[in-house]
Amino acid sequence: MKKNNTAPAPMKLYCNLFGHKYEVSKKVTLHVKEYTCKCCKKQLTTNSDGDLTELTPKFKEINSILEEMYVRRMERSREKGFRVPAY
Ligand SMILES: [Zn+2]
Repeated sequence: MKKNNTAPAPMKLYCNLFGHKYEVSKKVTLHVKEYTCKCCKKQLTTNSDGDLTELTPKFKEINSILEEMYVRRMERSREKGFRVPAY
């Protein structure tokens, strides 16, 4: 068995061994969320298939458009007198 006495393993290595600790960092729409790993700050998002994928600049752009559309739709439904839950 090999023993490694170098500096403490970076958080990335921890993630590689034990998996990322993702938490929701942003709610884009009801179905699309952005996640950030608490350890290494890697970011994921929900793609159009409902799967998780890496949050690239392209996906950030898509999400900001989705968010804008979502907010606008929510505002419109509020104007109609439709009750939107506070959360
Ligand atoms: Zn991580």
